[in-house]
Amino acid sequence: MTAVAEALEQVRSMLLEVLRFDDPAGWSDDELLAATASIEAVGRVIDAHRAACAGEIDERSRAELGSERLSARRGCRSASELLERVTQVSGAEARRRITLGAATRARVGFTGEPLDAEFPGVAAALAAGVLGADPASTIVRELDRPRRIADPVKFAAAEHELVAAATGDGGVAGASTVRCAADEVRVQAQAWAAFLDQDGPEPDDDRAMLRRGVRLGRARDGLIPIRGDLMPEVAAGLTRLFDAHLSPRSSTGFVTDEEAAHFDISGEQRTSDQQCHDVLAAVIETAARSGEHPSIGGAAPTVIVSVRASDLAAGRGAGHADGVEIPVSLRAVRQLMCTGGTQRVVFDDRGRIIELGSQERCFTPQQRRAITLRDGGCLIPGCSVPASWCEIHHVIPDVDGGPTHPDNGVLLCWFHHRSIDTSGWGIRMQRGVPQIRPPVWLDPGGGWRDSTKSPTRVADRLERRSGSAA
Ligand SMILES: [Zn+2]
Repeated sequence: MTAVAEALEQVRSMLLEVLRFDDPAGWSDDELLAATASIEAVGRVIDAHRAACAGEIDERSRAELGSERLSARRGCRSASELLERVTQVSGAEARRRITLGAATRARVGFTGEPLDAEFPGVAAALAAGVLGADPASTIVRELDRPRRIADPVKFAAAEHELVAAATGDGGVAGASTVRCAADEVRVQAQAWAAFLDQDGPEPDDDRAMLRRGVRLGRARDGLIPIRGDLMPEVAAGLTRLFDAHLSPRSSTGFVTDEEAAHFDISGEQRTSDQQCHDVLAAVIETAARSGEHPSIGGAAPTVIVSVRASDLAAGRGAGHADGVEIPVSLRAVRQLMCTGGTQRVVFDDRGRIIELGSQERCFTPQQRRAITLRDGGCLIPGCSVPASWCEIHHVIPDVDGGPTHPDNGVLLCWFHHRSIDTSGWGIRMQRGVPQIRPPVWLDPGGGWRDSTKSPTRVADRLERRSGSAA
């Protein structure tokens, strides 16, 4: 054990001894509040060093060190994971400490010259034990973005004012004032951030470039929120994609007048938000399949979902997707299996892999091209999703012996594939030709009929019809 660790261990025993006081229930109000404040002051000293250590771990784990980075040498993917393992805190807390530590850490310039920390005022107050991690993190979070674009003199003034407000020390007048709680500091910091932001020396476009970003939030109620700020031209592109597929549906020209009359498809069940979601789902699926993205471990960047065969057979439980913290439903698992294929892995009772199947049930690009030529797009009438955005659905599921063959695969968009078991639409193959049957609510008494959106096959059909009429 190092000298510091040894000394800290002694302090810890002493603290335990000092704090082994009688039950707080026996204290007077004044004693209770005084002890609370004193304990917080001790906590602030610890906070500062927690952040400093986290910042140092992060520095030693920086990407450019490659396999020499500290996190990698200790078998962790990131500084955050290493910190979680050493301290047993949550990922969110580890990242918060690292952010604070990195922002308050003295830096070194390109030529080795010492540089101030990004937030020198916060760093000094932390080190002095007068500023806790809570308000310090708030200041760093709120001022980090404006810091990159603001006039350095004004930024320094903002940081100074906020630290003064949080510590009750100094400020413009240099007089001691009442300390603000972290929430009050946040309100003040947001006001400063707005002020610094509009004062930035960069033109609008450069500032927008610095501020652009997209991120996925924490899972909530079974969904993952997405947040961010898009550059205007990117938003325009996305808006065009959404518009092209939002109700009222755009005409593909491949739904014949007869078809359009036969099915009154005006009753789109989805909200426009839901339709935008489904467009995004198709865009992601298409992009991953394009083969033009960097591979992950030699494979296309597809989603890997694991599920227990017994759960799948019994229709209960859930699957787990790599990179997402909440489970995915069995219905989603079946859809992914249907379109993406499966690999069977059998474990023995102790968890050893005793059987490893090869990957199965994935339509080849050649099969996909053939199916595309035959179906032309999502088979459901009135749906405008083009073939390249569609998934391939096994009409007879694999578990029921359905082969991975063009005679058993049809194009469906993400939404119609996801809802095919519940929407009421029927799909069957007649000698290799897809037929659909509308749900009863849409077409009571309606029967099976051929369906295609392929311009080639529509042309065929029209030719045959005009031939028989002549
Ligand atoms: Zn569709």
